[in-house]
Amino acid sequence: MSIDPCELAPSHIRAIAPYQPGKPIAELAREMGLKEEAIVKLASNENPHGIGPRTRAAIEAAIADVARYPDGNGHELKVALARRHHVDMGQIVLGNGSNDVLELVSLAFLGPGRSAVYSQHCFAVYPLATQARGARGIKVPAKDYGHDLAAMAAAIEADTAVVWIANPNNPTGTHLAPAELEAFVRRVPERVLVVVDEAYNEYLPPELRAETVKWLKRHPNLVVTRTFSKAYGLAGLRVGYALAHPSVADVLNRVRQPFNVNSLALAAATAALEDMEFVARSYAENLQGMRQLEEGARRLGLDWIPSRGNFLAIRVGKANEIYRRLLRRGVIVRPVGGPYELPEHLRVTVGTAAENEKFLAALAASLKDG
Ligand SMILES: *Cc1c(COP(=O)(O)O)cnc(C)c1O
Repeated sequence: MSIDPCELAPSHIRAIAPYQPGKPIAELAREMGLKEEAIVKLASNENPHGIGPRTRAAIEAAIADVARYPDGNGHELKVALARRHHVDMGQIVLGNGSNDVLELVSLAFLGPGRSAVYSQHCFAVYPLATQARGARGIKVPAKDYGHDLAAMAAAIEADTAVVWIANPNNPTGTHLAPAELEAFVRRVPERVLVVVDEAYNEYLPPELRAETVKWLKRHPNLVVTRTFSKAYGLAGLRVGYALAHPSVADVLNRVRQPFNVNSLALAAATAALEDMEFVARSYAENLQGMRQLEEGARRLGLDWIPSRGNFLAIRVGKANEIYRRLLRRGVIVRPVGGPYELPEHLRVTVGTAAENEKFLAALAASLKDG
């Protein structure tokens, strides 16, 4: 073939920069000749406490049926979610991670000739999902690292179909007060879908959690997304969901794969919803770990972006260099330059007390002598 077959893809696809995930433990172990047990990974905002006992039992029980296709409708999980959130089952869309649900939104509502609004420093999936559909991204400058809602409202154009919001946002950890967010949702024209991604909702103090699910009644253009990947500890199984107006949920369900959530994930998520103690413990330990990281950064004379998630963006200066030095010490964190536009910060997931300590010691050494 005289042309690169990649040229056969549309230009908006070829222009996509690959998503940079946190480096897997096994990969660093191979590269550095380290033992996997000696490596601390604080790079992907996973739950350092694993999963709760009910969840583990449910996964083990579900293994017996893996030769069969999963319930493509996810009935049991939807029953549990409908009860938890006081919504109809027809308002729920399940996804292979909430990332899948975000993709479904872009598949159903974006395309050439349409645009989506998002913030500078936002979760990288929003620009990616927008671009993959041939839609135009409108990036709005951040305010104090967070979403500038007034500017985002003003940035909506005639062809805008989606506004992407993460609350709290990743990688900054910035949080929008419920009243401020609600005022924004009221202000956005009804023809524009507002996606509020609440992946870190469980890590918020209860008084800061917006009642977004209640707002669905008044705002048919609102989509709320949640995940089991963070506080529930199921990142490896991939399961998340959207709550929306029944018509929006119906459209999203039409564009998903018939079996987009696997059977272990369905069983695990249904059980995890009942593992309330585990989530409560994860919340409490995250607050402690956050204080530990802040205190450690303060001792090293470093600034950070105050965070409401299970991660902290710490300003270390030459972040890529410090990132590499940390790798050599067996600690994986996340550089947030590139599309995140925070070249001086490293995003660190709150780990166990021992992991946080190891990170802080490695950081101190990496800042000093390389
Ligand atoms: C981690 C994260 C998600 C969740 O991704 P999953 O696909 O559910 O694992 C969604 N949004 C944000 C902002 C995140 O940081």
